[in-house]
Amino acid sequence: MQEDKKQNKVDVIVVGAGPAGVSAAVTVARGGKKVVLVERGTFAGSKNMYGGVIYSHAAKEIFPDFEQSAPIERFVERHSYVLLSDEDDCTEICYRNPSHGKNSFVTARGDWDRWCVEQAMKEGVYFAPQTLVKNLIVENGKVVGITTDVEDYYADIVIIADGVNSLLAKQLGLRERIKPGNVVLGVKEVIKLSEETIEKRFALYPNAGAAIELVGGPFAGMFGLGFIYTNKNSVAVGLGVSLEDLKNKKLKPYELLDTLKSHPYVSRLIEGGELLEYSAHLIPEGGYKSMPVLYTDGAMVAGDAAMLVNNVHFEGTNFAMISGKYAGETALEAFEKNDFSANHLCLYKKKLLNSFILKDLIAYKDVVPTLTGRSSSFLGYYPEKVNEFFRIFTTTDGQPKKEKFQKFAKNFFAKRSLSELFSDAVAGIKLIFGILK
Ligand SMILES: Cc1cc2nc3c(=O)[nH]c(=O)nc-3n(C[C@H](O)[C@H](O)[C@H](O)COP(=O)(O)OP(=O)(O)OC[C@H]3O[C@@H](n4cnc5c(N)ncnc54)[C@H](O)[C@@H]3O)c2cc1C
Repeated sequence: MQEDKKQNKVDVIVVGAGPAGVSAAVTVARGGKKVVLVERGTFAGSKNMYGGVIYSHAAKEIFPDFEQSAPIERFVERHSYVLLSDEDDCTEICYRNPSHGKNSFVTARGDWDRWCVEQAMKEGVYFAPQTLVKNLIVENGKVVGITTDVEDYYADIVIIADGVNSLLAKQLGLRERIKPGNVVLGVKEVIKLSEETIEKRFALYPNAGAAIELVGGPFAGMFGLGFIYTNKNSVAVGLGVSLEDLKNKKLKPYELLDTLKSHPYVSRLIEGGELLEYSAHLIPEGGYKSMPVLYTDGAMVAGDAAMLVNNVHFEGTNFAMISGKYAGETALEAFEKNDFSANHLCLYKKKLLNSFILKDLIAYKDVVPTLTGRSSSFLGYYPEKVNEFFRIFTTTDGQPKKEKFQKFAKNFFAKRSLSELFSDAVAGIKLIFGILK
């Protein structure tokens, strides 16, 4: 038994070959330690889905030359925020910056994750695909290895990067069962269109991309948003809605997606396209308040498994990559000190606290509770009123403007009492000051 353990022992095991896992593994390999990256899928990315945009700063921090060979579909040059109405109109705010276009890029997760693992293997990471980690092996309160469907493996440190529904962090008691209010269910279709059609419909230069976020419409009043991202020869259309709202309103996400696709703003962008892919996945949305314990003797938790997502700015993969890197660095420092206990691994949390990840998550900690509590106002009523305002503003029909705006104001206050408006305004101001504090 002792001999078996030695044969199957490496310095570090990383579970999950998503952005968090691969970043942790390559960091450890660069420090000269023996690391195995274990993934249940047939290849990295085979089990993963997301909207489509990765922030370049994080990709660069892990793979500085990624732009030269990574499977990038398009760099995002156009960001649009669209308030959809229940009718067929919408209000769009569009920000474009061709020169700052390399801030983020669109890539397919299957391609990106596979490319990342290939780079990591070149730097010494041993990759074990098609290997399901069933349990962590814990001896005398310390994590010492993993039980897989193949065999047991041992390591001084295990980095847990197994995604949003981390069964392994749960096994250790580091986190609880997912609460429906802390996750959003994302569904997405990828629709094939020619390169020229995409560039024409989205008004893009060749190779430039668009990231469009959609508020209101089919999910007005629910805690949810839609999105459209442009690949080179296809477009991703999807949405994320709180599991709690779906449960309470007995709604099916693909029905919501169909309704979203039928809004004229969306339908004319995807018209004539061929459905290539349909997928669904959970997104952690609970923020700082739902973050689990991040380390214990012999183990650390990174990425979605640690609920590290900033939903306001659509940041998930960059948090995953940088948290994975910090977990990897902490592991290397643990070898220098020969201390794999929680006493030393708490350094991982300190690194996160000193970085944009926890600084932002702490600043945004009240956003989700405020928005979920007031989603019918902030994500339903007010966006609808913005559209109504512009409908009146842009319509000239022989009616005096004053009368029309007086009617608009009367309707506005008829459906929201002064006290409701006041409490929404206070909540909004508190939120802004909370973030700026
Ligand atoms: C609909 C949707 C849209 C999104 N849009 C964006 C976006 O546009 N931009 C952005 O930055 N983020 C986005 N995100 C969030 C982003 O996808 C995640 O934050 C990110 O993938 C987290 O990376 P990770 O490595 O922590 O976890 P994951 O990417 O989930 O990787 C976990 C890996 O662990 C493996 N695994 C799990 N359990 C085991 C086990 N027991 N044994 C072995 N392997 C295991 C899985 O197969 C998987 O490969 C979106 C998410 C969704 C669902």
